[in-house]
Amino acid sequence: MAQLIDGRLVSKKICENLSDEILFLSKKPCLAVIIVGEDPASRIYVNLKRKKAQELGIKSIVEQMPTATSQQELLNKIEQLNNDNEVNAILVQLPLPSHIDTKAVLEKINPLKDVDCFHPYNMGRIATGTKPYVYPCTPKGIIRLLEYYNIPPQGKHAVVIGRSNIVGRPVAQMLLNENATVTICHSKTANLAEITKTADILISAVGQKNLVKPDMVKEGVVVIDVGMNRTDEGKLCGDVDFYGVEPKASFITPVPGGVGPMTICSLMQNTFDLYNIQYNS
Ligand code: NAD
Repeated sequence: MAQLIDGRLVSKKICENLSDEILFLSKKPCLAVIIVGEDPASRIYVNLKRKKAQELGIKSIVEQMPTATSQQELLNKIEQLNNDNEVNAILVQLPLPSHIDTKAVLEKINPLKDVDCFHPYNMGRIATGTKPYVYPCTPKGIIRLLEYYNIPPQGKHAVVIGRSNIVGRPVAQMLLNENATVTICHSKTANLAEITKTADILISAVGQKNLVKPDMVKEGVVVIDVGMNRTDEGKLCGDVDFYGVEPKASFITPVPGGVGPMTICSLMQNTFDLYNIQYNS
């Protein structure tokens, strides 16, 4: 039977420390979130972020812009926040409406305020094995979970399924920087199960329920499930067939309660870290 990797517990501890540190600051860290359009899921995510920031004593500003916002208007808003000394961290909620070039928008954010670590300067630093200002939220949460449960990636074969800029790519690079031997799989990978069977650490970041089945993993594997999907009954679930895989695993994250809580906690930590970099260095 696997040990459960409890993201709620770990994130609670991190957030408690964070709120203690923020309590004593006369000037509070400030996170600005830009949301363009009316996407209901984005609104829910932004509200969760705002609530968590409030809980921890972080100031949050939400810039709600209409769907018809032009690319230039959005770039101007980012420029304004880049130049605002009261704002320490900037997050542009994705996805953006299709008429806007997401890459150009993310590149406009000052790398020193890039709380999601999407700017090529920060991503490039991870890729070259150098420290970015802050690490991307979900990969950072995953690495912290491995640390907390004393699972050093060094020398292990880490298999990452998914190659997005948000999760798959950066987490693979961060594991490489931690001296794991890393394989990245994606939608065009021919022999997924053959590769996942050799994983000591398996990270699935796809968004497809029951993608990872028991016959795709070896005994003792550490499983990190990033996926967020819905069962036929509408319940939240990951990419991994949890009840099938769990008996073979040594450690496994549940969904919900695994990686998810770590992501929002990393966002708060990143805001605080950027504040410290801007005011104390
Ligand atoms: P994405 O759609 O950008 O990327 C998905 C990746 O999966 C792609 O690289 C694709 O090549 C790969 N893929 C698709 N089908 C595949 C298959 N059959 N076999 C192997 N690889 C396949 O998604 P993303 O933004 O990286 O998110 C992935 C999942 O993680 C989603 O469910 C998302 O909701 C979830 N997510 C969760 C958190 C969290 O905090 N828990 C954070 C970010 C994303």
